[in-house]
Amino acid sequence: MTKENKTVWILGAGASMSNNFEFPNINQIFAKAKEYSIISLNVKTLKDDYKELSEFIVNCFNKSLLRTSDKIDVEKVMTFLQIEFEKKGSYSNLQLMDKVIFLIRHVLSECLVRGNSNEEYEHLVNNFLNRNTSIISFNWDIALDQLIKSNNIYENFLKQISSKFTEGFFNGYIPFPYKEFPTDTGIYLKMHGSVDWLYCPNQQCRVNNRLYVLEDSILESHYCSECHEECKILIIPPLLNKNYDKYPSIKKIWNRSFLELNNASEVIIWGYGVPPTDFYSNWLLTRSIPHETIIKIINPECLRISNHENELQEYSINKTFVNKFKEIFSRQKITFYYNYKDFKNNFDINQKYNVKV
Ligand SMILES: [Zn+2]
Repeated sequence: MTKENKTVWILGAGASMSNNFEFPNINQIFAKAKEYSIISLNVKTLKDDYKELSEFIVNCFNKSLLRTSDKIDVEKVMTFLQIEFEKKGSYSNLQLMDKVIFLIRHVLSECLVRGNSNEEYEHLVNNFLNRNTSIISFNWDIALDQLIKSNNIYENFLKQISSKFTEGFFNGYIPFPYKEFPTDTGIYLKMHGSVDWLYCPNQQCRVNNRLYVLEDSILESHYCSECHEECKILIIPPLLNKNYDKYPSIKKIWNRSFLELNNASEVIIWGYGVPPTDFYSNWLLTRSIPHETIIKIINPECLRISNHENELQEYSINKTFVNKFKEIFSRQKITFYYNYKDFKNNFDINQKYNVKV
């Protein structure tokens, strides 16, 4: 079997944010929830539904859901709830966790409705997606999903990861184990789950490990047709990555992404900054990508821009950011691009901003 040249895109929150200015970063989820009146009735009053969560946040972090200046890290809240659940087994922690997940879904679907541009994702889909290109996304939102529903890489996700076809004739069997990973197809892999992914949480249920993708109404409750338990949404904050093993579909996605990266001739990382707490992704990027693979980073954080009095802007390298990638990809060739537009026009930061990486 000959190996085909394969490009793998890795997308982080920065990619969705540069497409649609409504999309929040991880620290803005609660502020957006307030702005969109999801958690509050007015500037001073929380909805009853969120009072318990508010108390938890005050107790743990001394921060208020109503104070916009308080930056509340939603991943940290979820991680604290999970740890307390593991220690105390308290059902109320689980309920609060569900509340946070519902809030994330609500905020992200609201952003999708209010935002109006998807220009760069559209360009990516129309110009850079070949048959065997894969996309690895660390995002929970579905801005890109909506654009690639008819694309082969989304169909491969449905066929190979979700349960869409497992009962049917089409993919009702699992092929014989392979000796060499086939590189001629691409796939869409969402590493931390998605606001439109459902699973049945009942461990005794025979469809417990299956993943279902909602086609519409992502805010409505759904119930398992097998055991009638209320389904849960599969999104996992990176800080909880020790739990990846608990969700076989997520585990499958991580295994598959290792293989995709291991067979990539080019890896393009857009808007993903490899958070220091996310040891798993750090490990994945460090260990899976061959030395000869070409690495391209699209991220405005690679530059520092200082404004002078005479309105001239001066550009310099953001060493902390750039060095993080140089450390992960110490043997590969890396090129940095300030934003998607520069990438599309093939202007790296050395050429366009006259800096030296
Ligand atoms: Zn069930």
